[in-house]
Amino acid sequence: MTNTLGEYTSIIVARSTDKEILEKSQDGGIVTAAYIYGLENGLLDGVVVADTEKGFKPVPKIARTRAEVLSACGTKYSLSPNMSVVKDAVKEYALEKLGFVGTPCQVIAMKKMMQYPVAFRQTTGNISLIVGIFCMENFPYNAMKTLIEQYARVNINDVVKTDIGKGKLFVYKKDGSDPIAIPIKETIPFEQKSCHVCMDYTSEFADFSTGSVGSPDGWSTVLIRNKRGKDFIDKMIAAGKLETQAPDFEGKIGIPLLEKLSTDKKTKNAKEIEHRIEMGLPVPY
Ligand code: FAD
Ligand code: SF4
Repeated sequence: MTNTLGEYTSIIVARSTDKEILEKSQDGGIVTAAYIYGLENGLLDGVVVADTEKGFKPVPKIARTRAEVLSACGTKYSLSPNMSVVKDAVKEYALEKLGFVGTPCQVIAMKKMMQYPVAFRQTTGNISLIVGIFCMENFPYNAMKTLIEQYARVNINDVVKTDIGKGKLFVYKKDGSDPIAIPIKETIPFEQKSCHVCMDYTSEFADFSTGSVGSPDGWSTVLIRNKRGKDFIDKMIAAGKLETQAPDFEGKIGIPLLEKLSTDKKTKNAKEIEHRIEMGLPVPY
């Protein structure tokens, strides 16, 4: 099927059956569950993750154990240059079955690299799974820090998690207190400008893509896009690693909302692209 969500063969609503993964992950723990399943069953021998360093700053790493994957779960709404560690993973760690997760722009970069592997010739055959995450926008790290410190009045070193949903950016602290909410309209000026010319919401070129939109709280929408993605997800379900429920193709918060948000992003950003071209400005995408 092809539509505003790109090509996919099926959609499922799913979540991990592992309580620890569910507790630590952002949504239904699909990425973490897939990575751990892959590592523990010989489908993957290493995975690229976005961990954090001091100040909740995203940093790409290669994880090879359950503990390393769990330590990096959760969404960071700032750029984590996950592509930058792919070559090291193959050349220095000698990984042959690498899992990769990225935002739509990173998945596109990965697929381009696989098509035209100039500097990555010995790398591309070693990518065994590409998981894409949905993405409306990203924030430069310093912009996110400003939002958290000046709007939420939270020291960036005390942050344990951030989440965007229901029209708000929620900031969770390490002390377990209630999250502080920043209305999304306050965050708009802080968005990464290149995100305003981005035409992919659902990681259309991944093996499978996942995000929270389209599913009940704590569950994830999964768009399965090709045979590799289907085989991987089927194996996880057969092994009892994922539970699933039928997607809601009718209700307002189900798949129609996912389609609406994707269409809205493409329509708005297509106008911005036109505007930038008319003004003679670069369109970095
Ligand atoms: P987890 O099991 O928690 O695993 C998440 C994985 O993603 C981890 O391996 C982690 O290391 C990696 N990761 C975290 N941050 C980044 C990053 N910045 N770059 C690359 N990899 C990363 N979902 C929606 O439904 N709608 C949205 O509009 C939306 N916008 C997003 C914007 C951004 C910038 C990002 C990074 C994610 C966004 N998501 C959005 C995706 C959503 O927040 C979850 O990441 C997704 O649902 C996966 O959840 P999970 O429980 O399966 O992930
Ligand atoms: Fe990348 Fe597009 Fe997301 Fe911006 S909106 S981080 S360009 S995928």
